This record gives sequence, C-alpha cells and structure tokens, in this order.
Amino acid sequence: MEETKKVSLYDNAVKQFDRAARIMELDRNLREVLIKPKRELTVNFPVRMDDGSIKVFTGYRVQHNVSRGPAKGGIRYHPDVTLDEVKALAFWMTWKSAVVDIPYGGAKGGVTVDPLKLSDSELEKLSRRFFSEIQIIIGEEKDIPAPDVNTDGQIMSWWMDTYSMNIGHTTLGIVTGKPLEIGGSEGRTEATGRGVNICTEEAVKYLREKGKLNKKDEEITVAIQGFGNVGSYLALTLTEETKFKLVAISDYSGGFYKESGFTAEEIRKLMDRTRGRKALLLDVNEEGYKEITNEELLKLDVDVLAPCALENAVNEDNADDIRAKLIVEGANGPLTPEADDILLSKNVLIVPDFLANAGGVTVSYFEWVQGLQWNFWELEDIRKALHKKMKNAFCDVIQTMEKYEIDMRTAAYVRAIERVANATKLRGIYP
Ligand code: GLU
Repeated sequence: MEETKKVSLYDNAVKQFDRAARIMELDRNLREVLIKPKRELTVNFPVRMDDGSIKVFTGYRVQHNVSRGPAKGGIRYHPDVTLDEVKALAFWMTWKSAVVDIPYGGAKGGVTVDPLKLSDSELEKLSRRFFSEIQIIIGEEKDIPAPDVNTDGQIMSWWMDTYSMNIGHTTLGIVTGKPLEIGGSEGRTEATGRGVNICTEEAVKYLREKGKLNKKDEEITVAIQGFGNVGSYLALTLTEETKFKLVAISDYSGGFYKESGFTAEEIRKLMDRTRGRKALLLDVNEEGYKEITNEELLKLDVDVLAPCALENAVNEDNADDIRAKLIVEGANGPLTPEADDILLSKNVLIVPDFLANAGGVTVSYFEWVQGLQWNFWELEDIRKALHKKMKNAFCDVIQTMEKYEIDMRTAAYVRAIERVANATKLRGIYP
C-alpha cells in the first residue's frame, strides 16, 4: 500500500516565502537566516486530573525571529497541535509584525490537548504548569504570548498571574489579550475581526476601482467560516458598521445560511450563545436560517469568502469550486499553496492571512505599550490607531503588488522580508 506523506505546514510556508525571495533576488545566505526558527522548545509536563490520575501533556513555544524586537505570538490549545504547525505559525508571526510595521519578531506556542474535554480546574492547572515550563524563554522584553485558537482572557489571566507569582511581582507586559480589569486594552478582543473587516472594506474598494465588482455595499454578499474570536467579531463589524450582506456563518459544529443577510443584532445573540466554548448549532430550527455544512459554505456563490477557522480549509480538492471573487484570510494558513495557485489562475483577489489578521497583534502591541507604562488609552484612540496601521499596510502591499505585478500574498512577503532583512543586515552577524 502506498504511504501518504503528511504535508508539512512549515514547508508550505517556506514555499510562499521563496516566491517572494526570488522576486527580490534575496541573498541565499540571508534566506537561510530568515527562514529558520531561532529557538524551538518542547515541554512534556504532568497535570493532576480531577479523578486523581496524572496525565502528561506536550506543549511547544517556538521563537522564529527577534531581529526587530521581542518575539510575539499566541498560544493555542488543540488536539492537532504539532511542532511543525507551531513552527509555521511562528514563521508567519514574524512577517505579520513586519508587514504592519510593529517592533516585534515572531513566535507561537501550542499545547496538544482538546480543551473541551477538560474541567475548568484541569484547564487552569494545565495552563499554569505549561506557562511555568516555558518561562525559561519568555519575558516581557523577550517573548510575549497572547490568545490564539481556544485560548481566551481567562487563560491570559492565569498565565499573567503564574508568571507574576513566580517572579514575585505583577508583570503586565508578559501577556497580551488580558481582560480589562487586569491591564488589558480596550479593543483587543475585537481587534483581529475588526482588522479583517478593514481589509475587506479596502479590498472591495480596490476591486471597484478596477471595475471588477460593480455592486453597492449592501449588495455585497459575504460568507464567514469560523465563529471563534476572529469570525464572530468580523461578522459583527461587517454587519454593524460596514453593512455588507453577511449570508453565511459556521463553526466546527456546522453553519447557517440566511438569504436576506444576518443583522448585527442576530450576530450579537449568536455570540452570546457561543460564549463558554459552546457550539453554534444548538437549535437548528431557527426561523429563516438554513443549516449548511462547512464545505457547502466555502462553495457558496458569494462575492467575499472569509475563512476564519483553521489551516488548509481550502485545498486542491475544493479550490476549483470556490466562487468568491475576493478571499480575506482571517485564519492563519487557510489556503494550501495548491489552492492558492488554482484561485490565482481564476483571478481571485486573496488578502493573505498575515496581513488580513494582523489587527490582533497590532492591538496586542498597543496593550503591551500601555502595560509597560501603566497608562491606558481610550477605545476610540485604539480603534483609530488600528485603522491607520491596517489601512497603511494594505495600501503599501497593494502598491508592491502592482509594482512587481505579483499576487498579494507574495507582495506582502516582499514588504515584510525587506524590513526584517534590513534589520538583520544592519545588526550584522554576531560575533
Ligand atoms: N494569535 C494572534 C495571531 O495569530 C495574536 C498574536 C498576538 O497578539 O501576539 O495573530
């Protein structure tokens, strides 16, 4: 029997990088320095479960690059977490911070666990022990974790408290994505979804200018895959502020289609329902909602598709059936390189993940600065500053795309690599 080789997410990410490296004629030695992660830490640690048994879990923290500032990136809890995945995600964080021009490098972490199967007390014990285990490489000026898939404000609070207890004083700068009560920032929870929405608005404007989308705002149909932090806040800002017509949403349990479009009020209700890690599809007999699968959602005849769930959602098996003209990647790595090629050949505009979802790390940066100064800003100022950062980065990438006549992902890499490569050259090789 033929053995199927599992595709490496990290190798796929490096393939994307190499496209840009060729266009920039990046020095080969510099390429080696820029693609490799600086540090990879694997930890195996015990947790005493509620029934008295002891379970050993595995977790990772990878720091990909620190030439422009401290390593930065979230930590996820998911049964499929592997070192390869965390390496790819850390790699993308480096380019994400660089493309929006915030002074960070890239990192990512993960624990291989299904948090839905843990009690609250098991989740707390796992979180505190894991954070203690990675304390040997993190620090408020070294590496700053944040939320990611299945990790939220409560977990940030336990992490911040664990680190603070271990070193003997409250340290706000060690984690971002904290609740407001303990040094979090206004606007952080909504930031990634809001940033994806800003990119969607800008991309629609661009397509209109090019005569490729001749519709009014309220006629532009959108489908969002994923109703976690990113998907839900994208759904909310899109319906409440931008007023595009959101016709489909989904999460791991399945999805809803609504031909007349969801209202912001309905989205708020659904957000309340999914709080506390609960599934979207609780009561499928909702009026006006048609139940659809995740696969059906991806293939809908809509103008905009926003994959905001996990990696590889769009791949060579379903890319041909995608009908959207614009894809805005809310998740990290939702399109495989094969899917990318198929969609680019059909002239689909793809706003790449590390630009589209950079709103989260951008407001994390604002939170970190506020925490270091023990001085906090107002929501209006945060939203304004986020909008400025995202819009500037979007326009910068579009200009690069037009200058080199390349796709938007490669253009975003070109801008990000330029910044990191320049920093690396200026700093030189030690010793
Ligand atoms: N996990 C988020 C991301 O993938 C946020 C990272 C951060 O705020 O550091 O961008």
